Amino acid sequence: MNVTVIGAQWGDEGKGKIVDLYSARADFIVRYQGGNNAGHTLVVEGKKTVLHLIPSGILHPGKTCLIANGVVFDPEVFFKEVATLQAAGVLGSEPWKQIKVSERAHVILDIHRTLDRLREEKASQSKGKIGTTVRGIGPAYEDKAARRGVQVVDLLHPNLLKEKLERTLSEKNALFKNHFGSEEVAYEPVFEKCIMLGEKLRPYIANVRRMLVDAKKAHKPILFEGAQGTLLDVDHGTYPYVTSSNTTAGGVITGCGVGSTFLQSVIGITKAYTTRVGVGPFPSEIEETEKETAEKIRKIGAEFGATTGRMRRVGWLDLVALKYAAEINGFTGLALMKSDVLNGFENIRVCTGYELHGRVLDELPSCIEDMEQLIPVYKTMKCWKNFDTKAVRSRGDLPKELQDFMTVIEKFVDLPIVLLSTGPGREETLQLLDPFQNG
Ligand code: GDP
Repeated sequence: MNVTVIGAQWGDEGKGKIVDLYSARADFIVRYQGGNNAGHTLVVEGKKTVLHLIPSGILHPGKTCLIANGVVFDPEVFFKEVATLQAAGVLGSEPWKQIKVSERAHVILDIHRTLDRLREEKASQSKGKIGTTVRGIGPAYEDKAARRGVQVVDLLHPNLLKEKLERTLSEKNALFKNHFGSEEVAYEPVFEKCIMLGEKLRPYIANVRRMLVDAKKAHKPILFEGAQGTLLDVDHGTYPYVTSSNTTAGGVITGCGVGSTFLQSVIGITKAYTTRVGVGPFPSEIEETEKETAEKIRKIGAEFGATTGRMRRVGWLDLVALKYAAEINGFTGLALMKSDVLNGFENIRVCTGYELHGRVLDELPSCIEDMEQLIPVYKTMKCWKNFDTKAVRSRGDLPKELQDFMTVIEKFVDLPIVLLSTGPGREETLQLLDPFQNG
């Protein structure tokens, strides 16, 4: 059975912990979209590790980690992560035996990072700021769609690389100089750096699609590791405040070059509340309406970005958005994270509808203006008291109010909660259904 783990909200749901947990069961762990803006935080045996690009499954010995074609790949970040993992004793002297990068993945170049930064700087005074991580992810995807992107395999083909770089650079330089009043970039150093990185990357480069097809034929379990979250999907998220890739389940298919039969268990990861980094619509946000509660959740939940350290905006669990995510991804189950953050609260709320111009909507509207004007409709529930989160062995051991909360979610979304996370550690996890057994 293959398992796909997908953020059901705006990212930062705690996917890292679930991927780490499920990786133990898989032979292959695959990143299929996004770039080094992922930032999974893993706590293993009390030690914190943040990975931005390499699948977090790498922390398990004997696993093969794949970076598929849908990812935009920053070789420099990649080599830094490899070095960090080697220093930590996770990877040995031949890391390419455990990590493979698709020939077809697109490469993030310095010019992409520069463009990202110049744009955010220029937009910082206006409403046009997307709040990107400034790592060149968006500009690299732009070049991909514009058919001038550099693919990993091009790094091994100097003539092709030269042609592509010349095209890309001439256009970027016109932008740098004329639009941003910034310095132009010389061609030679960019070319030389690409050739150098290509040589270093050579043993990692592979036909990842083929590897996945062969793995499935051999009945090897595969874990697809989503980055960001459903509401940041370029097609189905809160556009334009989204990321540049398909974060949803469809991204697995195009991002790996495999068929729909690879999507078997699809697990949506959601917190017991909601957070969002950066600007953009967030209907159940409580930063202004319930300021103290927002501060409290942020503090207890350590809601600051793993990649950027940015403060996350906080709100109640949005069941309407969760249902939308369930439909778009075809979730087969949910993992409910960070329930412990709410332990001991008096009341909690869940958003069950949106009011817009006097009408109650049961779905996220498509227009950004409408999204920004939604008034959440809440159901208020009594919260559970503090309890020993490590002593829980079954659903029946949980406080009744937490069980009720879970039932409300399950009924609204019409999906089982397959896992409840009651703390950051591996041992603070109640597994209710096994996604590797139940599709
Ligand atoms: P990801 O990008 O979806 O992996 O999310 P992040 O790594 O940015 O955020 C998850 C953070 O929450 C990490 O620091 C985890 O250690 C932590 N975490 C995960 N699950 C739980 C949980 O159930 N309770 C608490 N308190 N923290 C959790």
